[in-house]
Amino acid sequence: MSMDKFDIKYLSNKTGGDISLNRILNQYVPKTELSKFILEKALKGTVIYKFGDDVYSKNRIAILSGVHGNELAPQIASLHIMEKLNSLDSSKIDGIIYIIPFVSPYSSMRNSRYFDGRDLNRMASISGNISNDLVQYFKNIKVDAVGDFHSTAPNANPGVEAVFSTKKPSKLSYEIASHISENVGSKLIAYENAGNVFNGALEDELNLNGIPAVTCEVLSQNGHLNNKSLKQSLLQMNSYLDYFNMIL
Ligand SMILES: [Zn+2]
Repeated sequence: MSMDKFDIKYLSNKTGGDISLNRILNQYVPKTELSKFILEKALKGTVIYKFGDDVYSKNRIAILSGVHGNELAPQIASLHIMEKLNSLDSSKIDGIIYIIPFVSPYSSMRNSRYFDGRDLNRMASISGNISNDLVQYFKNIKVDAVGDFHSTAPNANPGVEAVFSTKKPSKLSYEIASHISENVGSKLIAYENAGNVFNGALEDELNLNGIPAVTCEVLSQNGHLNNKSLKQSLLQMNSYLDYFNMIL
């Protein structure tokens, strides 16, 4: 199978890592040509994949996973979503879906929350790192929404399956989160204003920059995953796509 059809772009060449060295994560990587291709590309950095055709006035939305490299369920869920989109004729995708399955392959390789000792989900307001690069990139290409998919350990914050959102300045953040919460049963967490509670979080920075964003969390021990957390992460992603009727 040829992978030439993939319109890919590197957003960083400093973040590369060999995902297959994370044995726990690698066990769940689909044994397909596509996943092999994605892992190969991740060796050199952060890659954004694009599915669907550019049509004016159609929605363009993004899915992120692996901002925290030790939160494994959403990274595998992204690969499953990509397998599904890859199997569809592009005419079945109503708009464009951007997917970054591994925001920081280096962190994923090391099964670590941190990149260079830093939490990438607290760095989005500071230039010179992949989190802020993502915000700038999504601003430039004017995406309609970003879903950032994580997992949370039982004793951490939020410690339950949840969707974070804010009502201002991007009300759509709250509306997307409400939809996912109703659909999947994840707890709805809605703050009034972006940027008040989590300084430098990707979701907050995106919302502050006028790009509606949500953070989805499934319950899983850090550095591990199981079929239940994988299933819930997939349900959250599908519900997010469904909010925008992305798949015909
Ligand atoms: Zn996280």
